[in-house]
Amino acid sequence: MATQATFRIWRGDAAGGQFQDYTTQVEEGMVVLDAVHRIQAQQANDLAVRWNCKAGKCGSCSAEINGTPKLMCMTRLSDINLEAPVTLEPMHAFPPIRDLVTDVSWNFRAKKTIKPFKPRTPDAPDGTWRMQQDDVERVQEFRKCIECFLCQDVCHVLREHHKHDEFIGPRLLVYAAALEMHPLDTEDRVSDLRHKHSIGYCNITTCCRQVCPESITITENAIIPLKERVVDRYFDPLKRLFRI
Ligand code: SF4
Repeated sequence: MATQATFRIWRGDAAGGQFQDYTTQVEEGMVVLDAVHRIQAQQANDLAVRWNCKAGKCGSCSAEINGTPKLMCMTRLSDINLEAPVTLEPMHAFPPIRDLVTDVSWNFRAKKTIKPFKPRTPDAPDGTWRMQQDDVERVQEFRKCIECFLCQDVCHVLREHHKHDEFIGPRLLVYAAALEMHPLDTEDRVSDLRHKHSIGYCNITTCCRQVCPESITITENAIIPLKERVVDRYFDPLKRLFRI
């Protein structure tokens, strides 16, 4: 591994900014976040970067590394070409606050528009529920989400078309799937998925699944089954016939 590497870091805020190059010492075993911390400590004390666990579990250090949404704490320098400057930018789908930090609060506001969990009445004599293990396991995958919002960042509907007022994005479709497929849930979110959350905007490019650090099968296991529910209700010709 090279002993010196250059990081081309976006510096600025909501009013605008520019890239600035920092060359620093790097060693075997370092991740991108280590290099950013070294630059922050030795050359740019005012460099803004959000991080917390440094173990890929808090979802805080999301950024774009050489143009790809990634967690800085989980991206090893040994996996990057250090012969050229490494570009670090804040996520593009959210408003910049400063340097590598973006305002992701829209995600939490949008989450509140999804109908909450509504469990059925307990069905066992002891006042608890019984569930099939298969049904329990189906939603477990969705609960691995660390809310890094990398999938939201890569989604072209949000990133390029800025449909934040209409479309909830892959992360929140995963959340909706966890509720919809929960074996105890009785709420009906199908109409909202079509009309309020605009699931139809997703054209299943699988970009979101490809950047997910938790390897959640976002498209195939969450979004497509939700789309099927919408299609069954609104576009199945037989069901439409009987509704009329
Ligand atoms: Fe991050 Fe994956 Fe959750 Fe999207 S689904 S917010 S990429 S962990």
